[in-house]
Amino acid sequence: MPFVAVLLAVLLATPALAAGPEDEVAPLQETTGAGLFTVGNTLFAVLHELAHGLIAELDLPILGNEETAADSIAALLMIPSEPNPFRRRLILAATRGWATSADIADDADAQKSGASEFWDIHVRDIDRYRATLCLLVGSDTRAGRALAARIGMNESDVDLCRTAYANADEAFERLTAPFRRRKGAGGGRIEVVYDDDPAFQAERGLMRRAGSVRRAIADLTARIALPNDLTVHFTACDGGINAWWDPDTRTVEVCYELVAYYEDLAPFDETAGGEE
Ligand SMILES: [Zn+2]
Repeated sequence: MPFVAVLLAVLLATPALAAGPEDEVAPLQETTGAGLFTVGNTLFAVLHELAHGLIAELDLPILGNEETAADSIAALLMIPSEPNPFRRRLILAATRGWATSADIADDADAQKSGASEFWDIHVRDIDRYRATLCLLVGSDTRAGRALAARIGMNESDVDLCRTAYANADEAFERLTAPFRRRKGAGGGRIEVVYDDDPAFQAERGLMRRAGSVRRAIADLTARIALPNDLTVHFTACDGGINAWWDPDTRTVEVCYELVAYYEDLAPFDETAGGEE
């Protein structure tokens, strides 16, 4: 399903981030500030759409809303299993993206009837924010506990989030157990393709340099033996701000316009770098 429920027509006029040389991949920790926000939100969108792909390719049963299940899988794939401050910042950036777009949606709702929003298959952005943050807090890392204290969650809320994380993690483990990749065994690959578009050199350069999509995909394909090869395809969409799973071509299509949208949305100036 399309990733962004409400398409905004406004894009950044002048992307501020320069593209690097073709094959240069700088260390992850060099991505900071608006770049980190953009990479974190784009990575979440890619993993959400890949989750739709996993559900289709592995024929995973879904009880409830597939959009919510895809969000849970994306969050599980983004939450680091070992302490990793940079990866934690990436998923925090994604939660801030939901909070910011929820504010925008509130403003838009004030000016129109809420009927179309009511029937949107995605839950509200503020709920996506709460659910993703809850899984991060509930992952029971030291960082999760520190985050809970910082945002003022009480102990019973933290306990509910621990249960939510444990339930989601166990469900994903059990559902994907038949597809666990054994050491040395084969499995489908996921190729990441970045179209070379003159209008989106900054977005292409940022995503390639950060390397976060490539790393997340390496983790996923090391863990799960896919029955088919898949593709993640970054491309220009003639103004469309979106990402989606195409079952016919087994491709996650990601519009460069979505990457530019996150650059525009970046609500804070976080200057701290990663520590990976
Ligand atoms: Zn979706």
